[in-house]
Amino acid sequence: MASTTFRVFRYQPDSGDLESYHQDFNLDHEEKTTVLDALLRIQNEQDGTLAVRYSCRSAICGSCACKVNGKTVLACMTQVEEAKAESGSSTLQVDPIGNFAPIKDLVVDMTPFWDKFKAVKPFLIPDGPAPDKERLVPKAAMEKVAKESACILCAACYSECNSLAADPEFVGPAAFAWGYRFAADERDSQRKNRAKLYSGQHGIWDCTRCMFCNERCPKGVDPRDAIEKLGAIAFQEKVTKDKGARHAKAFLISMRTGGKLNEQLVGGFTDPVGGAFNAPLALRMLQKGKLPASPLTHKVKNRDQVTKLIKNVKETI
Ligand code: SF4
Ligand code: SF4
Repeated sequence: MASTTFRVFRYQPDSGDLESYHQDFNLDHEEKTTVLDALLRIQNEQDGTLAVRYSCRSAICGSCACKVNGKTVLACMTQVEEAKAESGSSTLQVDPIGNFAPIKDLVVDMTPFWDKFKAVKPFLIPDGPAPDKERLVPKAAMEKVAKESACILCAACYSECNSLAADPEFVGPAAFAWGYRFAADERDSQRKNRAKLYSGQHGIWDCTRCMFCNERCPKGVDPRDAIEKLGAIAFQEKVTKDKGARHAKAFLISMRTGGKLNEQLVGGFTDPVGGAFNAPLALRMLQKGKLPASPLTHKVKNRDQVTKLIKNVKETI
């Protein structure tokens, strides 16, 4: 047997208390007890008003995502003793997932998440008349989207997303994983339109590449990788008007021509008006040594190595 203190986020606006707080519950439990089992025991044995969202208890439905000692996890997939060992703390703090408004205790309002999911058109849009039976796809083609198809919409990635914390309108990692799943499906006819849809304001180019979504996804979907692949699709479809796309292109040109980052070129290419002719910015760059006297000085010795690397990356994508 083991014993743990659970410091649980409480918020009960229905009872007239609009302030949130944390409440401690002590529980004796088995070594292998999961956080979800512990929360349900607390609910059954100590406080029936504790609100927890869950369904399958088997890491399939994605309902029980929450934060345990600051990290978003599926409560049903996380053993209490392992979480304690990982955080080096005998107390487990349980909070609702981030980037959402709480409704009651650990239950949040997921409306924005579902709205954004619907907005990426998460369904096949094939061309031509429907076949008699089905549209057959080679196994290798489906393998390209296998990882993204494993998404259970638990919103763990959304909870950890830095871009969302800064911009609540950002579409978010899960919706983009679904976007890629259909943009890369060879039965879909909307590749270019999808590239346009996903490249707009609050779109793929607003991702900060913090990688937390990849790190916290319990199903190995790697949504950041999906966003990267959507960027590649946008380039292939020549959807490169967005400032973010131009920025990525400028990096590539800079690496190809000089083998290293040329901030002068990147700034000017990304934002021709605000970047190239922005005198205060140019002055600051000069002061920090980021504005060389001549663009020719922006070259590394073994540039051919960089060129080979770029070629290899391109072939792998
Ligand atoms: S991508 Fe992963 S973390 Fe995000 S919703 Fe899907 S399964 Fe959950
Ligand atoms: S890598 Fe991008 S999408 Fe993923 S969590 Fe970070 S900002 Fe959000």
